[in-house]
Amino acid sequence: MLNQNRLRIAMQKSGRLSYDSKKILNSCGIKINLTKNKLIAFAENMPIDVMCVRDDDIPGLVIDGVVDLGIVGENVIKEKLIYDKINYKKNKYKILKKLDFGICRLSIAIPVNNTYNGLLSLNNMRIATSYPNLLKKYLDSKKISFKSFVLTGSVEVAPKAGLADSICDLVSTGATLEANGLKEVKIIYKFKACLISNNKIDYVKQNVVDKLLTRIQGVIKARESKYIMLHVPKNKLEQVVLLLKGAEKPTVLKLVGDNTKVAMHMVSRENLFWETMEKLKLLGASSILVLPIEKMME
Ligand code: ATP
Ligand code: ZN
Repeated sequence: MLNQNRLRIAMQKSGRLSYDSKKILNSCGIKINLTKNKLIAFAENMPIDVMCVRDDDIPGLVIDGVVDLGIVGENVIKEKLIYDKINYKKNKYKILKKLDFGICRLSIAIPVNNTYNGLLSLNNMRIATSYPNLLKKYLDSKKISFKSFVLTGSVEVAPKAGLADSICDLVSTGATLEANGLKEVKIIYKFKACLISNNKIDYVKQNVVDKLLTRIQGVIKARESKYIMLHVPKNKLEQVVLLLKGAEKPTVLKLVGDNTKVAMHMVSRENLFWETMEKLKLLGASSILVLPIEKMME
């Protein structure tokens, strides 16, 4: 049963954002049991309900207040923002936080055998896209005239089917473009998944939102950080610190039975690549350990 006092969050039911959305909520300590055909799941340990829907429905659900928060691609939000502006609709939601998944770009792609000499090559083209407003915003700003052909899916087959000269679509690896005989010629926007919220959230729910946001920030920080431990020759400490640029204030500890080396522990905002580990080794460092961090609160 739906309870008005519980915070409601919408996420994608099945698609590119589903796994990571569920994972970030789980990492925030929300215990939800999402099974395949369930539309809604009630957290056991927090006043939170999670609704699983199509990603395109998420902004509308947030605007109408059916849910309080939503996890959706910035691409969906930004396209809708322009549409709403054109149609004089008021914004009834805000972006609370950019997340660290769902990374993609909106790009223009043309058939591999066609030549591309900059944006002017696109003049008067018919471009197939699911993002007509973002495409228009970009090409208008560059003074390129074009015709858009709106397709909600399978945009990449439009040139082959003779429906368009080129496409403007979301890309992550580029494999879909390649499989359809297309080449990416211009990235027009870059996107991530984000957490959006309805403008009106009562103070009881706001407390839960604040707690959730702090935890999300902690999860993201922990995911982009590493805990590094190593043994370092005492006379090489400064050089080692210079190599570990993303590291914050290292702790230095004595080693029992070895006066020439000390143990260094630190949190680093950057991953430690094999190349850096090899350089550390050349400086005489040993026992180099890089560990993932599960949770972080500053
Ligand atoms: P739904 O059935 O929920 O409507 P969909 O087919 O519209 O799903 P997906 O393809 O699952 O949506 O993509 C969801 C979101 O994932 C996109 O809106 C975008 O933010 C992000 N994304 C990341 N990489 C890609 C990519 N290569 N292609 C499309 N979307 C991507
Ligand atoms: Zn969709």
